[in-house]
Amino acid sequence: MSPRILSGNTVRDSRLVELIKKFSEITPTPELAIIQVGDRPDSAAYIKAKISFAQKVGVVAHHIYLPENASQEDIVIEIKKCNENKLIKGVIVQLPLPAHIDRDVVINTIDPHKDIDGQTAFNMQCLREGRPDAIVPATARGIRELLSYYNIDINNKKVTVVGRSALVGTPVAQVFARYRAVVTVAHSKTIDLMKETSSANVIIVAVGKPRLISTEHVRSGQVIVDVGITREGEVGLDTKTKLVGDVDFDKVSKVIGSTGAITPVPGGVGPMTVLGLFENLLDACK
Ligand code: NAP
Repeated sequence: MSPRILSGNTVRDSRLVELIKKFSEITPTPELAIIQVGDRPDSAAYIKAKISFAQKVGVVAHHIYLPENASQEDIVIEIKKCNENKLIKGVIVQLPLPAHIDRDVVINTIDPHKDIDGQTAFNMQCLREGRPDAIVPATARGIRELLSYYNIDINNKKVTVVGRSALVGTPVAQVFARYRAVVTVAHSKTIDLMKETSSANVIIVAVGKPRLISTEHVRSGQVIVDVGITREGEVGLDTKTKLVGDVDFDKVSKVIGSTGAITPVPGGVGPMTVLGLFENLLDACK
């Protein structure tokens, strides 16, 4: 029997009417700035999804594009303009940035009150301290809401987070610990990944390596959240690209069985990240 599918599309769409109403009650209409540096196709796809959702919920989105060879100063200037603009309530710098840019300098230029990705040092410190006003990074917020929607209890459950990036793994681990899960963080140097994943009730994978998690890492009844997104295949005459996650969905589904639950890729965590971002924007408007 197949596991329960945790659909981020379903949860995001269920919140649409409420978000439209809440944004419509704010005057002047809140604005959002998304700064893109370079031409990464994955960044372009993420930005497209955010702009499309902004239009649906009635938020004005500004897409500020800078070429790959833009200087750090060019990016800092654009962020400062957004910080000073009173209509702009949220500022996102689409990551990753080109190698010649110091990510921390750029991110920490964002006004922490407009940092709806929760990536500034200020907001990360607030999250570490468990402050209630901390801006929770969008993917972490989205995953928490996804599990909550499907009534998956994490209180005192063992949650293994695979990946420890500042963008996903680390904030996810902090958020789940705050909600009283017993959290283990695995990474590239973890000696026995199988032991850490197979002993968990919930596995959250944010690595970026297709099919890293397969049958040997899982057992019956587990909840699997796949954050990874990798585009596979080449665009050509007879080949098409497709998005794949870090989990071998078909094989893992058979092992976790009807008592388990799993997110699809696409349509799982991706839409929840967009939802989390706009919920952070709502909070930033308060
Ligand atoms: P990242 O910064 O490259 O971090 C990857 C993490 O995976 C690192 O902590 C790394 O460990 C760990 N890792 C690498 N190989 C491993 C292995 N063999 N076993 C266990 N851990 C391993 O990536 P990221 O920004 O966190 O993103 C991860 C994935 O999520 C990517 O596919 C990205 O596209 C996707 N993503 C999706 C969403 C969404 O909305 N669905 C949002 C953001 C990101 P070390 O720290 O030891 O190097």
